[in-house]
Amino acid sequence: MSILVFVESAEGQVKKTSIEAVAYAAAMGGDVTAIALGNNIDSSELEKLGNYGASKVLHVDDERLNQGVIQAYSSILAKAMEDANAEVLVLANSSLGNPVSARVSVKVGASLVSNVTDLPDTSAGFKVKRSIYTGKAFANVELSKDKKILAIKKNAAEIKETGGTATVEKYSVDLSDSDFGAKITNTDKATGEVLLPEAEIVVSGGRGLKGPENWGMIEDLAKELGAATGCSKPVSDMDWRPHHEHVGQTGVKVSPQLYIAVGISGAIQHLAGVNSSKYIVVINKDPEAPFFKAADYGIVGDAFEIVPKLTEALRAAK
Ligand code: FAD
Repeated sequence: MSILVFVESAEGQVKKTSIEAVAYAAAMGGDVTAIALGNNIDSSELEKLGNYGASKVLHVDDERLNQGVIQAYSSILAKAMEDANAEVLVLANSSLGNPVSARVSVKVGASLVSNVTDLPDTSAGFKVKRSIYTGKAFANVELSKDKKILAIKKNAAEIKETGGTATVEKYSVDLSDSDFGAKITNTDKATGEVLLPEAEIVVSGGRGLKGPENWGMIEDLAKELGAATGCSKPVSDMDWRPHHEHVGQTGVKVSPQLYIAVGISGAIQHLAGVNSSKYIVVINKDPEAPFFKAADYGIVGDAFEIVPKLTEALRAAK
């Protein structure tokens, strides 16, 4: 089976979610070709995809593709699927992967499934498991078309180093003006050193912190851990924190290795944004706070005493 994997990058590096997509494709057991778009990716980054299971990497070395130009990306991926005779396109279930996959599926007439959590079952037909209802349930989906597109949920694929190598080849596609009908003209980087949607560790604060003047201790703990900062919805509604930090059903959905919730009650709408986290630590003075039911570790007590002590202990341990 020939599998194409769309590789996203940021600041010259291949994103971890795309390495997961390559590893997922390799675990499917097919011949894996990765494709990267733009001229702002380090070539060593492309070569290293061989170590995760790609045998070939196609590189469209075109400056116009450095920002997420969704229409152009979709045209290139549709053409690359055709040229590589790829039966399956695998990509990250991301803010870029999702609109791109929808367009490619129309262009090539593919069955598309997003939020994929497991490898496909190909024993009879082609079935995949996907997460639904913000991670509260799963659905098994059968894909009936010849071509298939799978958008893989973050942390769903295990990254294994294969020791393999990949050849990197230049690849080009004729693009028209309509492929650049909408393009990003500039971007403003969010405040904070680590971006929330990508973060491996998140320290998040809720209304229990009483006011914006108390966020220093959240930032200190986050800095010590190399974490991003997040918050509950009321906190951003009250302008204690910027809206891009709002985590939950109506905010950012995070999937870090570690989510530390400080002074957050654990309402269902907040949990919807964090339930893909690997480990959840809850700090709350109310032992009956619902968040403790979702926690791997819980600390019952006053955040104003616990958080500075935790930060101090981490500093001392360095
Ligand atoms: P509270 O519920 O007020 O909880 C504060 C917590 O802090 C309490 O558990 C308290 O025991 C604890 N606390 C107080 N003092 C201390 C202390 N000194 N030390 C330690 N702990 C302390 N919410 C979201 O977060 N994200 C969403 O995306 C979201 N979407 C929503 C969508 C809809 C349609 C609706 C209706 C609601 C949504 N909400 C969302 C709101 C959600 O229902 C809750 O109201 C909200 O999550 C509560 O925020 P909180 O936990 O910060 O505040």
